[in-house]
Amino acid sequence: VSRFESITMAPPDPILGVSEAFRADTNEMKLNLGVGAYRTEDLQPYVLNVVKKAEKLMLERGENKEYLPIEGLASFNKVTAELLLGADNPLILQQRVATVQGLSGTGSLRLAAALIERYFPGAKVLISSPSWGNHKNIFNDARVPWSEYRYYDPSTVGLDFDGMIADIKAAPEGSFVLLHGCAHNPTGIDPTPEQWEIIADVIQEKNHIPFFDVAYQGFASGSLDVDASSVRLFAARGLELLVAQSYSKNLGLYAERIGAINIVCSSADAATRVKSQIKRLARPMYSNPPVHGARIVANVVGDPELFNEWKEEMEVMAGRIKSVRQKLYDSLRAKDKSGKDWSFILRQIGMFSFTGLNKAQSDNMTNKWHVYMTKDGRISLAGLSSAKCEYLADAIFDSYH
Ligand code: PMP
Repeated sequence: VSRFESITMAPPDPILGVSEAFRADTNEMKLNLGVGAYRTEDLQPYVLNVVKKAEKLMLERGENKEYLPIEGLASFNKVTAELLLGADNPLILQQRVATVQGLSGTGSLRLAAALIERYFPGAKVLISSPSWGNHKNIFNDARVPWSEYRYYDPSTVGLDFDGMIADIKAAPEGSFVLLHGCAHNPTGIDPTPEQWEIIADVIQEKNHIPFFDVAYQGFASGSLDVDASSVRLFAARGLELLVAQSYSKNLGLYAERIGAINIVCSSADAATRVKSQIKRLARPMYSNPPVHGARIVANVVGDPELFNEWKEEMEVMAGRIKSVRQKLYDSLRAKDKSGKDWSFILRQIGMFSFTGLNKAQSDNMTNKWHVYMTKDGRISLAGLSSAKCEYLADAIFDSYH
């Protein structure tokens, strides 16, 4: 008898489990709209040209495989903070930003969670309802208490702005408010610039600490600056804040696990101390981060020519997603004579569309139509080709009715 007898079977991951089920399906019309990963029009994974160029450079230079420092590659940390806040941001010049390379967005969030657990005992993290499914896991495992704030309004398939503001106001003073910097996952619904200002007002009033999760910079609108504007608006107010970054989507570096945690502090001295403690948290967890993805980012963002080429490729990716979004909308409009308003699809931004399909309807999408998606009604438009928009519209229309 095994010593592990008491260990029960864990449930499949609600997002990554969808890909497993997809692989097992032999129907040729099958579509994987579960995981948020960019696909070409032929529905194939895509390695960016700038990534290949950077890797070629790295090979030519014969770079070694020595350990990185605990905080990661210095040239990466420099460019990643600049990309986020703007290269000429006074916060950077004043050395008020503590940046530590993390294991992509997830690992960076996890480091911040560990910091909160250690230095803000009892403080709560407020998470949008709904949010990316892994947020709750991350804070649970870090033993950080959390609660939800209203975000999604099913009646409009839009933002419940009043509910959001009321819940942020009602939270205990000094809570951490987790915000999606752009392209909210799973809803694809972002506050307007005016709404961001009001959110910042309330957070400031309540002495909360904003905590941004930026997983889609440049990928949502096609512009790196536009997608960072929410974070920059908060930073410009002089607020202390946390920002987790990921290069999984915008550079297609999913498996390289490259990202960062940035903590904007009110003084250079505080930033130095905070950084020292994040390093102390990282050391026993994984010692130091991997170098390959960090070098790619440093090469692409640090070289004006590659940087411009990256921006062009990002626009192409964001543009392809926008065009299938439009086509899906057009197909649904043409099919549905009931007068139902499908325009929410066009108002959503980023990789995802939140269809408003409930669990039973999402099950119908998968069981009858072989369309794999998460049970909350989220579909990844990055996994859709224009050739399959019509088919998807049929599936959605059928599942709604
Ligand atoms: N935050 C959000 C909102 C995400 O959607 C994702 C990726 N799906 C992540 C963080 C983290 O992804 P990664 O760990 O690959 O950077």
